[in-house]
Amino acid sequence: MSLLRLEDLTVTYRTAEGAVPAVRGVSLELEAGTTLGVAGESGSGKSTLAATVLRLTPPTATVGGRVLLDGEDVLTMSFGRLRAVRWAAAAIVFQGALHSLNPLQRVGQQIAEPVLLHDADVTRRQADQRVRDLLGQVGLAGRLASAYPHQLSGGQKQRMMIAMALACRPRLLIADEPTTALDVMVQAQVLDLLTTLVRDLGLGLVLISHDLSVLGTTCERLAVMYAGRVVEEGPSADVLARARHPYTRALSAAFPTIGDAAARFAPRGLPGDPPWPGDLPPGCPFHPRCGEAVAACAGTDVRLRECGGAHRAACVHVGTRPVEVRA
Ligand code: ADP
Ligand code: MG
Repeated sequence: MSLLRLEDLTVTYRTAEGAVPAVRGVSLELEAGTTLGVAGESGSGKSTLAATVLRLTPPTATVGGRVLLDGEDVLTMSFGRLRAVRWAAAAIVFQGALHSLNPLQRVGQQIAEPVLLHDADVTRRQADQRVRDLLGQVGLAGRLASAYPHQLSGGQKQRMMIAMALACRPRLLIADEPTTALDVMVQAQVLDLLTTLVRDLGLGLVLISHDLSVLGTTCERLAVMYAGRVVEEGPSADVLARARHPYTRALSAAFPTIGDAAARFAPRGLPGDPPWPGDLPPGCPFHPRCGEAVAACAGTDVRLRECGGAHRAACVHVGTRPVEVRA
């Protein structure tokens, strides 16, 4: 049984401007102890997808489909069961979470909180020991438990957030843009840490980033999202070297090296902006920006097609021409 299985997931936000279909039928699977990277420009639905895994979407969101954690549907489970599952089965490091540490509380206390909350029998002393163990796991000195957030660097804060996520020994970790706010050296260290944790703790990892090069070094499989759908999916090496969707090629050219801050705001090879989910173009939503668009693209809403080797892409060209191999 898969650790995580999304089946035809849809999320629509109700807003004053009308319905915003942020996720439009995503199916994905993650085996225990494996890593999946989710890529896509800002607005493609990545954070919304992450929030559904622990049913953390706001009340204005309507969620459809199924989110199976170890075979159990998160969307229909009781609140009591959901409380048990949050932290202990799966944990999320949220985008921008570096700023969510309480500035008035020592970080060790903040990490101890989920431990104490989830295990009524645990003593304060045991919780403190657990905090020191967790800090060791993320490569931080135990004495930093008594620090306040402002005394820590960005990289140390991100390690604290990861330690907090690991507090109740989840089997699934979702990290949403965990390196985006960090400088390049520190980004590489945080990615190393995630890789080590996956190996040592047998964690399943969903790593989310707009930067394909970040995901390629860390994840076994990649899913590329555009306008609320997965448009390409497969083994990382395949998706990066033999991308079949023009969007994947454009995204990978836009972020050629890890942590290129300039590329984030002016991605090369990606003209224009992603569409507003409330007003999508007909056919393939990427066709107005696509250098390889043909007449059929405006009229065909292509779903994922097999391209061999567990590799799939949603493009009219798939199946009609040989795979390009980039040098
Ligand atoms: P990503 O993480 O890929 O940048 P998001 O999941 O944050 O994408 O957003 C997907 C789309 O949903 C965007 O168009 C965003 O504006 C919209 N959206 C996100 N959260 C909300 C919300 N709470 N209410 C209305 N629209 C939202
Ligand atoms: Mg996001």
